[in-house]
This record gives sequence, structure tokens and C-alpha cells, in this order.
Amino acid sequence: MSVVEANLAKAEAYLLRFRRGGVQNHIDGASVPAVSGRTFETVSPVDLSVLASVARGGAEDIDRAVAAAKAAFPSWSRTPGAERRKILIRVAEAIEARAEEIAFTECMDTGQALRFMSKAAIRGAANFRFFADQAPSAEDGAVTRTPTQMNTTSRRPIGPVGVITPWNTPFMLSTWKIAPALASGCTVVHKPAEFSPMTAKLLVEIAEEAGLPKGVLNVVNGFGEDAGKRLTEHPDIKAIAFVGESRTGSMIMAQGAATLKRVHFELGGKNPVIVFDDADLERAVDAATFMIYSLNGERCTSSSRLLVQDTIYDDLTARVAEVAKRIKVGHPLDPETVVGPLIHPEHEAKVLSYFDQARQEGATIAAGGEKVGEVGCYVAPTLFTGATNGMAIAQEEIFGPVLTAIPFKDEDEALALANDVQYGLAAYLWTNDLNRAMRMTDNLEAGMMWVNSENIRHLPTPFGGVKASGIGRDGGDWSFDFYMETVNVSFPR
Ligand code: NAD
Repeated sequence: MSVVEANLAKAEAYLLRFRRGGVQNHIDGASVPAVSGRTFETVSPVDLSVLASVARGGAEDIDRAVAAAKAAFPSWSRTPGAERRKILIRVAEAIEARAEEIAFTECMDTGQALRFMSKAAIRGAANFRFFADQAPSAEDGAVTRTPTQMNTTSRRPIGPVGVITPWNTPFMLSTWKIAPALASGCTVVHKPAEFSPMTAKLLVEIAEEAGLPKGVLNVVNGFGEDAGKRLTEHPDIKAIAFVGESRTGSMIMAQGAATLKRVHFELGGKNPVIVFDDADLERAVDAATFMIYSLNGERCTSSSRLLVQDTIYDDLTARVAEVAKRIKVGHPLDPETVVGPLIHPEHEAKVLSYFDQARQEGATIAAGGEKVGEVGCYVAPTLFTGATNGMAIAQEEIFGPVLTAIPFKDEDEALALANDVQYGLAAYLWTNDLNRAMRMTDNLEAGMMWVNSENIRHLPTPFGGVKASGIGRDGGDWSFDFYMETVNVSFPR
């Protein structure tokens, strides 16, 4: 039996429960179908076979979940931080214990490669540990005094919150939002992405088995336009943490306006990796290719634009093309696979449409540019050269293993090109000139920048974007600021 066959057999064993019983909603500690009885199917991008039928929640299901979260809030928010910490650490341990199940399930549901999903499951546990450790001090504040008044400033959890997540690395991203919300003392209604609903169900079960009281975390599956919309409009939901596309963020802001919803948005990106001719080119090529071709390029911080100094443009793009051609595209459960199938035929069609558009607009396809195989949503790692910044492939978030390379002359032009997009999530800079790095990072329009490095996350640092890439920051104490209200009480002295 090959490794893939052995892994498939394991995956089947993990998926069996969903194949038999479907993916139900999870409200107030119970696994329940949608009130309407409606369902939808989740398909595997590996071969488009149906994995499971999923409860299709709507407004009534959201209302029930919000009622459960509201009822659970007084007790959970008053549970001492040290106690919340203990429970959330147990959740982290339980995630670690079931990391293989989470990773295998996610591979089959999303098409992401096992080598990345194994790490993503463990990162989910790290998110719980990190935020759990801050729970005991989350409410702490400061005392300030004037000659006549004494002020005590502290924080309290905002209330039940809604978490809406996308389909790329869904488990890890859900923990990134849900862990700090729970550590803050908030209760949660989670609406996972309709393309990848399975691991959200695993997370809520794991959390309750680890001791999270019922009603503290609830999951309603369904589509954005009904379940998602109702969650953002619900008067008892005090804040919405959203990860997804920029245009969905705009809709959520409008939907939440009537109830003055606090929003936190992690949105799209078209992130540049800028390479000057004084850089360590071997490392730059390695990092640039990793950042666009890992996780299928379905990654908000992927380096989808390669801006290269004209003196090294031909050499560097030739090296990138070589790497792209050698990347293993294959079954997500093959440990050697780097690029698996894209999430869904609809998304695959979107990515493939850019290949035609690039040709029509006059770009050159230096690698890839085609579908791979007959079955499943596989596309080849692609490099466009000879592109200009006005082209759709340079402006729009393709969200696939697709890189657009553009030459620049000098710092000014590099900066102008880098900033000439609607997005501003991440930027990667390669130069050995420290002064140049300081000048560039001072002027780049991005929430996060890495100099001579790929994206290496450190959880205490802020994560988030500027411009159309988001509102607010996660990580460190920033997450707590979002899920908590800061209040001041003043006494006469
Ligand atoms: P999407 O915006 O289509 O969907 C995200 C979620 O929003 C889904 O659960 C969907 O059901 C829900 N939704 C859709 N319409 C809604 C509405 N009107 N009201 C409420 N909810 C609604 O995004 P996607 O295609 O699932 O994910 C890919 C996008 O996510 C990319 O743009 C990517 O860059 C972004 N992303 C950003 C980050 C970040 O940290 N900045 C991280 C991961 C993904």
C-alpha cells in the first residue's frame, strides 16, 4: 500500500462519521439539524465527490445560537480568568491529541497539502495556548490620579460575538478568532465557510469535551447571504470578527450598521515581494516561491506580486520559473505534495480565467498557466512575466498559486508599484542595504512587512492590514482590545 493509499484509508475512517451523520450545527451543547431541515453538500476538490451533507442554517438557527450564547455569557464572563485559562489550555491539549484527525479532515475538505495542514492544526493549539495565558490579566487596567479624582480603568468582555471565517486554512483561522474571544470572556456564534465546514464541528466538540460549558461556543453552518447576514444583523451580537474578501467586509459593515456593530476585518491582499539587486537572491527566490506556492497560494499573505530590479529581472524570474516547474502538484494526503487541488470548481474557474486574461493583456506565461489532470481542481504553479501594474493579474487577488512578475528601475519606482493597489496587507522586502530597508518600510502601504524573510509569525505581534485589506489588528493584546470594552470609573479623593 502506498503512503497516499494508507493516508486515504485513515482519512476515510475520520470522515466516516460525517459521511453517515452529516455535518450538523452545534447549538447550546447539542448537535442539531437546521430548523428548516435544509442541507447542502460539501464536496472534496480532490475528485469532486460528495463528502457529507451539511445543515443549512438560516435566520432561525442563528437566532437560537445567539440565544444560547447570550444565556451562557453571564456565567462565562464571570468565570475567573485563571479558570478560563485552565479550560482553554485543555482545549489546546485536546487539539494536539487530535491533530492528525483535524489535518486529514481539512486536507480532504479544502485540498490543502498535508505538510501544511499538519502544521496548521498544531498552530491552532498554539493560538489557544497563547490567548489562554493572557486570560487571567485580560481585565487588568490602570489607576490614574488627579488632585481631586481617582480613576480606575479596566476592561470587560463585550458580550456574545459573531465569528465568520473563510475556507482557506479554516481550522487555524477559526482558532485565531475564537480563542481570544473565549479568553476575553465572550461567548461565540461561529459561521464557518460553506466550502469547508467540517473542522469547525471538530473544534466545538473538542472544546466541549475539554470542559468548555455548553452555549459558550456555537456553530451554525450555512451561506453568507442568509446565516451570515442574520448573524451580522442580530441585535444581541455585539461584535463581528470577520476574515474573508474585501467586498464581503463592506457588505458586513453595511449589514451591521443598524445595530452599530463593532467590526474587525481581515480581508484580501495583493502582497508585493520586492527584490533589489543587492539582495541574497537564492534566499529571495526560495522565500518568494514559498510564499506564493505553499498553501496553494490560497493564503491572504501570499506574495502574489514579484517586483524585481531590472538589472536582475531576467535572471531572477528564470530561477523562479525553474522552481515553479519543479513543484509537486498532487494529492493533498501525499506528504510530498506542495500544491493540492484548489478549494472548489468555482474558485478553480476563477483562477483559470486569469490565465486567458493574462495572455489577452500581453503578459508571458513563464511557467504553468494550465489546468493539471482531468479530475479535481488542480492547476499548475504559474509565473507571469512581462506584466505591467495596470493588468488585472497585477491588481486583483487571484488567490491561487499564481505569481505576477514586474520589473522596476529604482527605489521610487518599486515603492510606487508596490503601493499602487487597493490592498495593503503584507509586503516582503529583499535588500542588504539597511538604509534602503528603512526608507522603503517607512513608505510601504502594508500592515505587516518582512525584511529578508518570508512570513514568520510571532503571536504577540500585530496581524492585520491597511487600505482594503482590513480594519483592526489581531495578536498580542490587540485581540483582547477588540473583544473587550474599556471602562473608566472615577471617584473623588
Ligand atoms: P468570502 O468573503 O467569500 O467568505 C468568507 C465568509 O463570509 C464565509 O463564511 C461566507 O459565508 C461569509 N459571507 C459571505 N457573504 C456574507 C454576508 N453578506 N454576510 C455575512 N457573511 C457573509 O471569503 P472566502 O472566499 O471564503 O475567503 C477568501 C478571502 O479571505 C480572500 O480574499 C482572502 O484574502 C481572505 N482572507 C484574509 C485573511 C487575512 O488575515 N487578511 C486570512 C484568510 C483569508
